[in-house]
Amino acid sequence: MGKRKYFLDHNDLQYKQIRHPFWRKILHSLLWIAASVALTLFYLSIIQNRFGSPKEHVLNQKIEELRLKYSMSNLDIDRTLKDIKSLESSDEIRYRPVLQMEPIPQTIRNPGFGGVDRYRELNGYMNSYLMRSTRQRIEEIKNMLTVQNESFVLIREKTDEWKFEMDHLPAISPVDPSFRLGDRFGYREKHPVLGYGRMHYGQDFSVPYGTKIYATGDGKVTEAGYNTSGFGYYVVIDHGFGLVSIYGHLSRINVPKDANVKRGDVVGLSGNSGTSSGPHLHYQINKYGTPVNAINFFNNDITQQEFYEMIQAFGSDSIFR
Ligand SMILES: [Zn+2]
Repeated sequence: MGKRKYFLDHNDLQYKQIRHPFWRKILHSLLWIAASVALTLFYLSIIQNRFGSPKEHVLNQKIEELRLKYSMSNLDIDRTLKDIKSLESSDEIRYRPVLQMEPIPQTIRNPGFGGVDRYRELNGYMNSYLMRSTRQRIEEIKNMLTVQNESFVLIREKTDEWKFEMDHLPAISPVDPSFRLGDRFGYREKHPVLGYGRMHYGQDFSVPYGTKIYATGDGKVTEAGYNTSGFGYYVVIDHGFGLVSIYGHLSRINVPKDANVKRGDVVGLSGNSGTSSGPHLHYQINKYGTPVNAINFFNNDITQQEFYEMIQAFGSDSIFR
């Protein structure tokens, strides 16, 4: 094995093989092995310094994955924050002003979570800042949602209250608006039946006998019967909020005492009962017991069609139940 080496013998001018002693061959081999080992170690150390061990490589990959996940979570947080901010602005710009509610102070909506020691358990890591800021933003979202949720609960309550009040106010005409208005609220020089001057506490409507009379707001029937002091057959509805509506001179009563009525329900038919000189409706509103001008409670500038659409919309079929 190995190449043979020759030298020129000047004595006899012949090539002769060089023969090394055995110990020298062993030494050569050992040197070779040592050099190879040294070189391998040298390469390994360079590779490790530069790329890390396989285990480190896996760990680094995991760290990168976690960082990616954190970034993606932060994108989700951005989107969620945007959605919540849009809810907040609807709340502040649209709902609260309409319902006459005070705005929510920014110190409550965004109290700030940057306390020095708030996330101290997350200190001392390579990615402490990333973890702390993500955690802080999640806390912010939680707070914003809690505040917004409470606000919506309040708005819902306010809206229900408001709707309740709106439904109960005697806010429409008690008859089809195409009928003429009769005697107004105020002092009458000469009462058509009694013949002398007297205060007129209602708004009259010139309607033919048997015209449908509608409840002008939700409420409870507190009186339904015959009144000997002038109203004849009459109905009284208590709407709450100190308001009561009275429908007089009816020919027929359609609702019993204590019944709950909705706006648009037919309370009876018009007539000429009581102190009346001809078929008409006497419609009166009392506020905390005092008669007020009923004409101020409804808008008569609507068409007949609009009126009946409104009656339908209130869910009443405007027929006798
Ligand atoms: Zn009258």
